Amino acid sequence: MTQNEEDLEEKKLLGSGGFAFAKLTEEEEIKANLGVPHLFLGNIGRLSEDRFSRYYCKVCAKEFADSPLISYENLNEELPGEGIIISEVGEYRCRVCNNIIAIYRKFK
Ligand SMILES: [Zn+2]
Repeated sequence: MTQNEEDLEEKKLLGSGGFAFAKLTEEEEIKANLGVPHLFLGNIGRLSEDRFSRYYCKVCAKEFADSPLISYENLNEELPGEGIIISEVGEYRCRVCNNIIAIYRKFK
């Protein structure tokens, strides 16, 4: 399946420290939806910065016409007792105050 620009829809993605607006494919949207009326940034994982149009930081109490700052590290760590391997941990942070907008974990 190929995705082109027209398939991308801008969605509001909630995080613990604010929210962001990003263009998502239908597949990513399904992944972020846990059966509730909101989409969560933490369930999406890593999106490239150019997908974001703006974000809101709770600490700054302001919206910025920019993407949040994304940082991540690759791991190979097993969740104790669960047999699940975490392959990546990442954070979306505010560019101004460094507040964490959302954290995500990617599993193998
Ligand atoms: Zn901030």
